[in-house]
Amino acid sequence: MKRDIKSFSLPELQQSLAALGEKPYRAAQIFRWLYGWSGEPKQVGVQAFDEMLNLGKALQEKLSEHFFISRLEPANETLSTEIESSQTLKFLFRLTDGKEIESVLIPNHTHGRERWTVCVSSQVGCALACTFCATGYMGFTRNLTAGEIVDQVAFIQSWLTLHLDKTVTNVVFMGMGEPLLNLDHCLEAADMLSSSDYAFQIAPSRITLSTSGIATGIRKLADLGVKYKLALSLHSAIEEKRAAMMPVTNEFSLAELRSALKHYYDRTKKEVFYEYTLLAGINDGAEDADALIRFSHTVPCKINLIDYNPIANIDFTRPAEARQEAFIQRLHDAGLTVTLRRSRGKDIDAACGQLATASRSEKKIVRPVHT
Ligand code: SF4
Repeated sequence: MKRDIKSFSLPELQQSLAALGEKPYRAAQIFRWLYGWSGEPKQVGVQAFDEMLNLGKALQEKLSEHFFISRLEPANETLSTEIESSQTLKFLFRLTDGKEIESVLIPNHTHGRERWTVCVSSQVGCALACTFCATGYMGFTRNLTAGEIVDQVAFIQSWLTLHLDKTVTNVVFMGMGEPLLNLDHCLEAADMLSSSDYAFQIAPSRITLSTSGIATGIRKLADLGVKYKLALSLHSAIEEKRAAMMPVTNEFSLAELRSALKHYYDRTKKEVFYEYTLLAGINDGAEDADALIRFSHTVPCKINLIDYNPIANIDFTRPAEARQEAFIQRLHDAGLTVTLRRSRGKDIDAACGQLATASRSEKKIVRPVHT
């Protein structure tokens, strides 16, 4: 049976080619065809082995006998109506096994800087069942391969080149799934996205791995000395509240997370970004701010407060403006660096925690957190 050549890592493809009697260096050539610029109009990656011009006809035919080149099929593409001059786009992709994932292109033009961020999925669904997250209600289906993660950026980069003549500048692993439960593939993908060998060449400091709190994964990142940014979806620094919203807290407590973060900082000397979605009556009070302030003393950090986007059938709301302001002021008074991230693309369900199933969730989900 033919295998998807994009499901191989570079060393795996080298081995596979050697087993077919080919020189291992061919694998690097093939990868450049799969993930480098090609064609006119310019796009990332070729679609057929006979487009790999420096391989020779015999090898092209041999590759066609043993492998196929998968591609993400766009299942829809929804333009946000919220931002006219810089539109947020959600891409729904169908994988070769028929499963669907989503990615988001988020433009940001502030302070004279132009950023084009792609938010990628790392798994089909997610096992962690956070109560505020649409993906969490899907359950877990499977991990994505590194090729499937990179292809989300490849497709969007090609789209961006064709339609706007722009380049992807940042990648965040904050779409469907928990990246640190698919760590090897995510790191492989991040390495490809930052490599000078391929089309993307995104600086490691512009790639963010986000976790809901897999302490073992954070320790592994530290021990590997990864160059990428780390974001922790915190959402509450009070154990019981966090456990009610994020069941992963029952496996990795806040104390374990603090210990893992210290280890991470000791090894990398890199600050950590805390993501905190403000939910009315849940985690937006003075005691919540104080707990967050105490947690923020663990390692150097920045806090991204996220404006909650209501999801159909999920019973959370965003706090009133005055309550938000009071929360932010308390953090500022404690000397913390805080950014309030207005969710982009909420009209297309493209914001944090809204990927994939918002429109498919049928049951009424009742708010399970004590207020
Ligand atoms: S917020 Fe992240 S970790 Fe939690 S269920 Fe959603 S995708 Fe999974």
